[in-house]
Amino acid sequence: MGTHHGCQRHALGRTLLSMDYDVIIVGASIAGCTAATEYGRAGLRVALLERHRSPQAHKTLCGHFILGGTHEVLRRLGFWQPMLDRGAAVTTGLGVWTDAGWIVPAPGHGVPPAISLRRSKLDPLLREIAAGTPGVDLLMGHRVTGLVESGVVTDAGRTLRARLVVGADGHHSAVARLAGVPEDVAPNERFLFWAYYEGAEMTGPGDGQVWQLDPDIAVCVQVDDGLTLVGVFPAKERLAEFADDRLAAFDRFVARLPGGPSLSGARRVSNLVGTTDYPCVRRDPVPRPWLALIGDAATASDPVPAVGCGWAFRSAEWLTDATAGPLRDGGDLGRALRRYRRAHQFIDKYDDIGRQDALATPPNALQRAIRAAAVSDPWIARRLAAFGMRAEAPSVLLNPKVVARALLTRRAARPA
Ligand SMILES: Cc1cc2nc3c(=O)[nH]c(=O)nc-3n(C[C@H](O)[C@H](O)[C@H](O)COP(=O)(O)OP(=O)(O)OC[C@H]3O[C@@H](n4cnc5c(N)ncnc54)[C@H](O)[C@@H]3O)c2cc1C
Repeated sequence: MGTHHGCQRHALGRTLLSMDYDVIIVGASIAGCTAATEYGRAGLRVALLERHRSPQAHKTLCGHFILGGTHEVLRRLGFWQPMLDRGAAVTTGLGVWTDAGWIVPAPGHGVPPAISLRRSKLDPLLREIAAGTPGVDLLMGHRVTGLVESGVVTDAGRTLRARLVVGADGHHSAVARLAGVPEDVAPNERFLFWAYYEGAEMTGPGDGQVWQLDPDIAVCVQVDDGLTLVGVFPAKERLAEFADDRLAAFDRFVARLPGGPSLSGARRVSNLVGTTDYPCVRRDPVPRPWLALIGDAATASDPVPAVGCGWAFRSAEWLTDATAGPLRDGGDLGRALRRYRRAHQFIDKYDDIGRQDALATPPNALQRAIRAAAVSDPWIARRLAAFGMRAEAPSVLLNPKVVARALLTRRAARPA
């Protein structure tokens, strides 16, 4: 098996396209490659279709900071070490600036590390792993333009059939559109821009920082090749400031960050990357008895909390865990897909919270109390970090015990 692109692919592609598969996956990026690799390892025959011709193709609009909640999944999949081998940077604890002070990550806080590898390296790596997995046919240059029951039609007019079709084709999912799947769209009231620097010096606590400027947010994190990503996520009411000279507005924003990175000896090695509008989109992850959606095709969340890549890896793992056995052994696929949908509720719950945060409204009294308490209370700080890294369900932070403790801490901290 392997990667087939350009002219070499066509001869092989013709033969493959006349065959049936156990699973057809549309989109060979994070979610699609992960699912294909796992299905292949489970002994299934997989067609992995990607519209781009080059195996080096990658998503450019992505900050690629993969939260600690994905660490275990990446290790289980065998992706963590190859990512490190390609130069990925690991972040063990983020310092969070709040108006009550810095929340400093305690050493050995037990929250799993985040990892960052630019998509120009990550996407080709995942394709390489998928293409090298027995049973997986990575078919580059095959855009899906139609759907039939239990099958897809490509732009070359070929029909491929399988027991399960998986839409891993991102935010604007063609598969979901072709299947007539309803979209639940919510507004995002922030915009975002970032740039990469060589020689940037972090001056805040932790090995990366987040600024909660209410309603604006900013980040500074390490990425591969020793580069630093500096990003700003202002509320849309500041869009006009960025209209004329975007870079000057960005520089002004970064220069005013309390304890922000020192860029005096640094060199910016990229243009600004970003977007002024990115609504949140959600679709049923199991819209038909023969169709599942994973990654952004199911849930494209607000980019600000950097959840999307993690959701793509995790939803792909949940789907393959639930369905590989029944697909291989002729078991009950409907039941397996219901299991996948239940697992996906982990994402749905966080997405509900993310959609609230994406409105860029000031934090409520409870949010302020939890943040302020986390400045002085390592127990709350750890829970806040586990929540931020999506390492545990939202109840790790949003529970009566944390709330009571935060309120007590706040009362104790008040001057008599
Ligand atoms: C501005 C921005 C910043 C972000 N920053 C972060 C971050 O820091 N951390 C984080 O975790 N997430 C981040 N995200 C989210 C992250 O980029 C996505 O969640 C992630 O890429 C989803 O992966 P995916 O595999 O589901 O989809 P995608 O990566 O979008 O891949 C979809 C694939 O399907 C292919 N495809 C599409 N249509 C077809 C078709 N018809 N036929 C065949 N192939 C097709 C595409 O070419 C592509 O390869 C950010 C998103 C944005 C917009």
